[in-house]
Amino acid sequence: MLPELSPANAKYAWALRGREAPPKRPAGERVHDFCEVFDVFDEATVRAQAARCIQCPEPLCARGCPLSNRIPEWLALAAAGNFIEASAVSRSTSNLPEVCSRVCPQEKLCETACILGARGAPVSIGAVERFINDYAFRHHAVEYVTAPPNGRRVAVIGSGPGGLACADELAKLGYRVTIFEAQPVPGGLLVNGIPAFKLEKSIVERRIDLLAKNGVEFRLGVQVGRDVPLADLRRDYDAVFLGHGAQKAKPAGIPGEHLAGVIAALPFLIEKNTGSPLFDFPPVDVVGKRVAVLGGGDTAMDCLRTALRAGAAASVCLYRRDFANMPGSRKEYENAVEEGAEFRFLTNPVAILDNGQGGVGAVRCVRMELGPADASGRRSPRAVPGSEFDVPADLVLVAYGFDPVSFPEDSEFAQIKVNEWGGIVVDANQMTTLPGVFAGGDSVRGPSLVVHAVRDARRAAQGIHRHLSALARA
Ligand SMILES: Cc1cc2nc3c(=O)[nH]c(=O)nc-3n(C[C@H](O)[C@H](O)[C@H](O)COP(=O)(O)OP(=O)(O)OC[C@H]3O[C@@H](n4cnc5c(N)ncnc54)[C@H](O)[C@@H]3O)c2cc1C
Ligand code: SF4
Repeated sequence: MLPELSPANAKYAWALRGREAPPKRPAGERVHDFCEVFDVFDEATVRAQAARCIQCPEPLCARGCPLSNRIPEWLALAAAGNFIEASAVSRSTSNLPEVCSRVCPQEKLCETACILGARGAPVSIGAVERFINDYAFRHHAVEYVTAPPNGRRVAVIGSGPGGLACADELAKLGYRVTIFEAQPVPGGLLVNGIPAFKLEKSIVERRIDLLAKNGVEFRLGVQVGRDVPLADLRRDYDAVFLGHGAQKAKPAGIPGEHLAGVIAALPFLIEKNTGSPLFDFPPVDVVGKRVAVLGGGDTAMDCLRTALRAGAAASVCLYRRDFANMPGSRKEYENAVEEGAEFRFLTNPVAILDNGQGGVGAVRCVRMELGPADASGRRSPRAVPGSEFDVPADLVLVAYGFDPVSFPEDSEFAQIKVNEWGGIVVDANQMTTLPGVFAGGDSVRGPSLVVHAVRDARRAAQGIHRHLSALARA
C-alpha cells in the first residue's frame, strides 16, 4: 500500500513512491501482432508518478530535452490531476508530444538528466507526457489557435516530423502552408519506418488530420525535383522548407551482398508494417527462417522485432561494437530481448555466404575488441586476428543507416551547399545557401531522432518568419 501524500511529505514523494513504467503487454502476446507494446497509466498512477518530481529550480530534465520542454510545469499540473492544462503546456514547446513521448530514447535525453537518477530512479517523464497528450486528444481538448492570415505562402517539402512541425508552427503564425510529399501517404518515417508496435499509425493520422483541418494543404505523390521543379516553388511561394529526410540506404559493402535474400531494412519494414509492399520491391517471406540483421541502431532493432512478428524462426543482431556503444535505444533493446531477439556484440560481418543455390547460407564474421578511445571519446573496434566464424542465416537485413539522397545536378537543388557526406549546410536560422530556402531534420543531420527534426523545424519556422518580416520591412 502506497503512503498517502500530504503537503508535509509531498516533497519526498520520490522517496516514498518508486518509479513505475506503464504496463507492458507480455512478450509472448505482443510478438504476434503489431500493436503498441506499452499500455497507458491509469489516472491515479500517472498522478503519483508525476508527483515524484521535486520541482528543481533549475531543471536539468529540460536541458536534457532537445525541445527544452517545460517538464516540471506539466508534471506539477499532472500531479494535481489537471491533465488538459498539462497537455497545453507540453504543446507550447512541442508540435508532436504524443509522438516524441512514444519514440524518444528518454534514457539518453530528459530522463537521464533528471536529478533523481543519481539517488534512485528518474521520473517517468515520457510516460506522463504520453498520458497527458493522449488524454487531451481523447477529450477533444487540443486547441488550435492561429494568427489571422498574413497573406504569405510557404512550401514544405516532405511530411515527416520535420515537415509536419514546420507546417504546424507556420500555420499558427498565419502562413498558408502547402506540404509536398513524394509518397501517397503522409508522415515520412513516422509511418514508413518506425513500426506500429512503437508508434501506432492512428496517432500520426490524428495529427495530420488536425493540421489539414486547420488549413495545411497536403499534396501527396508529388516529388519535388521530378514532378515540380524547386525553381517553381521558389517563384510561387515566399519561402521553402526542405524536410525531405535521408533515406538512401548505406550498403553492406561486403562480398555476397548481391545474393537473393540480402534485403535493405527500410523496404522490408515498410512492407511488414504497412501490409503493402513497395511497387518495385517483392514481398519478403521470413516464415521459419533464420534472419540476421546487420547494424546496431533503432532500424536494426525494429528489423529484429518485425522479423519475429512476421514469423521468423530466429532473429539475430550482428553488431561490431559492444552494448555500451550501441546507438539504439536501451528501452527498445530490452523489448527486443524479451521478444526473443538475440544480440551478438563485438561481431563484425565480413562476408555473406552462398547456400549453393544463389541464396544466403550464413554470415561470416570476425570477433572484435575495443581499442583506445578516439578524439570523440568513443573506443574504436578492431578485429581479433584469426577469429573468423560463421553465423547460420537464411535471410540478411542490412540496417547500416542512411545518407541523404543526392540532388540531381541539373536542378536548382544543386545550388544548395552540402557537406562531405551530403547533409545540407544551414545557418543558425536553418537557412541554406539558397536565400529563402530553409532545411532541417535528417536532410541536414543525417539519420537522427524525431525530436531533433521537430527542434530544427521549429527553428526554421522562426527563421522563415524573421526572414520574411525583415524583407517586408526593407
Ligand atoms: C526504422 C527506423 C526506426 C526509427 N526509430 C526511431 C525512434 O524510435 N525514435 C526516434 O526518435 N527516431 C527514430 N528514427 C529516426 C526518425 O524516424 C527520423 O530521424 C525522422 O523521421 C526524420 O524526420 P524528417 O522529417 O527529417 O524526415 P523523414 O521522416 O524521413 O521524412 C521525409 C519525407 O520527405 C519525403 N520526400 C523525400 N524527398 C522528397 C521530394 N523530393 N519531394 C517530396 N517529398 C519528399 C519522404 O517521402 C518522406 O516522407 C527511426 C528511423 C528509422 C528508419
Ligand atoms: S520530447 Fe523527448 S526528450 Fe523531450 S521531454 Fe518528451 S520524451 Fe523527453
